[in-house]
Amino acid sequence: PFFKEYIPAEIPKPTELLAKLNANENPYGPSPKAIKALQDMAGHGNRYAWMELFDLIDKIADYEGVKAENIIMGPGSSDILEKTGMVFFKEGGNVVSADPSYMSLMKVAEATGGTWKPIPLKDDWSHDLNAMEKAIDGNTKLVYICNPNNPTGTISDASELLDFCSRISEKVPVFVDEAYLDFLDDGHKQSMVSLVNEGKDVIIARTFSKIHGMAGLRVGYAIAQPETLARINEVTRGGMGISYTSIFAAKASMDDQEFQNKSRELNAAARDYVFETLKSMGHEPVASHTSFMIFPIGMEGKQFLEKMMAMKVGVRAFEFMGKNWCRVSMGTMEEMKIFTSTLRKVLV
Ligand code: PLP
Repeated sequence: PFFKEYIPAEIPKPTELLAKLNANENPYGPSPKAIKALQDMAGHGNRYAWMELFDLIDKIADYEGVKAENIIMGPGSSDILEKTGMVFFKEGGNVVSADPSYMSLMKVAEATGGTWKPIPLKDDWSHDLNAMEKAIDGNTKLVYICNPNNPTGTISDASELLDFCSRISEKVPVFVDEAYLDFLDDGHKQSMVSLVNEGKDVIIARTFSKIHGMAGLRVGYAIAQPETLARINEVTRGGMGISYTSIFAAKASMDDQEFQNKSRELNAAARDYVFETLKSMGHEPVASHTSFMIFPIGMEGKQFLEKMMAMKVGVRAFEFMGKNWCRVSMGTMEEMKIFTSTLRKVLV
């Protein structure tokens, strides 16, 4: 029943690719202001950045409308997903999530001694919240929701999700991964962050890797109840993994609204182009709310990946719902044109 990802025999070096569309990276980042901050602060690389990290936490708390005690930082949100997986499942138990979804937390949960209870997405690609609720049993330690979801790029209704998280978190903590929420025009409104201020046991993960274009600089955070963060802190030293320079880059990027707007707009333009072009080629892309898109390829995934890689285009391939799918990240318009013209040669 589980979804499967095809892993290519050889992973090409990024520099060998004409279009690197396999990791949902933002082709425009980092923001010029973030780059300047990195350059200006490089000389402080001999210092630990405790106080500077507190400044960043205060800035994020302000932006999110929560208290500093509700925030934990990590080198990317991966760090928080993984550490949550370790702490919550060290005595076993299960994690309920959609299938397919982003597997980082579930993989660590399984490696630590937990089990995964996958619940297929509904026909409209939203989370099957009723089925997820029914799947919760006495052994459920956490519910994981990725909204918008990866690898599908699809979204679940914010008010239904708010109601679900609010009710379910009375029984079991709910982890909401909002890595791609910033690509929505009204992302802030669709966030589950307000539940934290209502005292609910929800953990919201956010990242500087996507809209801020800082995937290689590694800054992410979670917003939750202080007691829940204290549990995660059993296996972390809250932010010890973030570099001095990255802290300043994150602060500068938060102040560069113009860059974030540009990323959102250019991403949407690339998405429209890919969606329309795929449709004109007879494909059936799934409408995306993120910086990537999926569509069925009607070809075995491994063979597809190898053919695309041979033509120097990096994408991902999955199998679920009885079909093979390509997941393509949104690069620059130029890269997307390389992608569509390569696709015409590969899927003949
Ligand atoms: N969550 C989702 C849904 C993702 O797709 C990714 C990365 O692709 C991450 C979290 C982890 O990103 P990072 O560790 O760079 O914050």
